[in-house]
Amino acid sequence: MELNLPIYLDNNATTPMDPRVLEAMLPYFVEKFGNAASRNHSFGWVAEEAVDYAREQVAKLINADAKEVIFTSGATEANNLAIKGVFEMYASKGNHIITATTEHKAVLDACKHVEKMGGQVTYLEVQPDGLIDLQQLESAITDKTILIAIMYGNNEIGVIQPVKEISAIARKHGVLFFTDATQAVGKVPVDVLADGIDLMSFSGHKMYGPKGVGVLYVRRKNPRVKVTAQMDGGGHERGMRSGTLNVTGIVGLGKACELCMNEMADEAERLSAMRDKLEKALLQIEEAYVNGNTDHRLPHTANISFKYVEGEGLMMGFNKNIALSSGSACTSASLEPSYVLKALGLGDDLAHSSLRFGLGRFTTEDQIDFTIDAITTTVLKLREMSPLWEMYKEGVDIDAIEWAHH
Ligand SMILES: *Cc1c(COP(=O)(O)O)cnc(C)c1O
Repeated sequence: MELNLPIYLDNNATTPMDPRVLEAMLPYFVEKFGNAASRNHSFGWVAEEAVDYAREQVAKLINADAKEVIFTSGATEANNLAIKGVFEMYASKGNHIITATTEHKAVLDACKHVEKMGGQVTYLEVQPDGLIDLQQLESAITDKTILIAIMYGNNEIGVIQPVKEISAIARKHGVLFFTDATQAVGKVPVDVLADGIDLMSFSGHKMYGPKGVGVLYVRRKNPRVKVTAQMDGGGHERGMRSGTLNVTGIVGLGKACELCMNEMADEAERLSAMRDKLEKALLQIEEAYVNGNTDHRLPHTANISFKYVEGEGLMMGFNKNIALSSGSACTSASLEPSYVLKALGLGDDLAHSSLRFGLGRFTTEDQIDFTIDAITTTVLKLREMSPLWEMYKEGVDIDAIEWAHH
């Protein structure tokens, strides 16, 4: 079979939309264009009905009540609403939030904002495998703590945090637990009741739905949680998020959730088998290391560093044919290598030479085979030209060399 290039292995950045999602959305652009808040005519009722149906589809996937689903423009907005909204709503109770250094920027930057508003934030360091230390978490709780914000599955390394244990600690101390589950929902079973989650964000475009739509789950009982709206207006979404609902996007997200509900188990098995094949093959390369805990990990993610290979060269070697992310500066706006990999304790060299493989629903075995060949060839070729590799092979202890920094 002919292989279409380039191959897309960056599903943690965004997923292609499932054609079945598009099909569900299409009628709502032109024919059924009503405003879901229009109460006086059938155009509005049709839109409202579609939103209600989608809300049920979303709720079902995460074992929530439909009333607990707040639609947003994506996970970035949901993260902001959760953190700033809890900070404002529970100001009389305390001003302290606990999070971790490997969180998504939308969580970290919302926490920075809270600090500017007089809040206190503890940023937990993670262990070398990317997991937080539960004892450290519990010790960080004070009588001013109102929120623990720890993500479900990490977008760069795929590590899944011990969510049940975290929620038990939160519950024990009467602290709310918010989790950014953008990489987890639709990929692994997420159950807000069993997992003890009070607030949770996720996003359409990470689960084969459309961009520009997401969810904040806000628990309604035991305890009843509230967040202060960050956008003022018509009082949509139970007053927590004003703005005319993105009906097409919401319909698409609902359909995406339904598909994940039905197909997640098989898909996870298929993707983890391909991911493991890829990882096993690439670890045949000398001085290749997996980043992050491999026992508690999302099924579609692998992050591997190739020592003594320069990150930018690595990307240039194959990025005409394979689309994926690297921990190196060249793929991002900043010059720093991935802060997540640095938080695991990786040096700049290993962080720069890392690749993130994000498999998805449309990844095929042929694509994985091609990728294994292409990456292996590139790494070996780059090392042939690398003075560092030569020194390493001659037995020079490279880690002991003091490099001149500029
Ligand atoms: C992609 C992502 C986000 C941001 O989601 P948007 O819907 O694009 O705003 C937040 N958190 C995690 C873990 C993500 O992977």
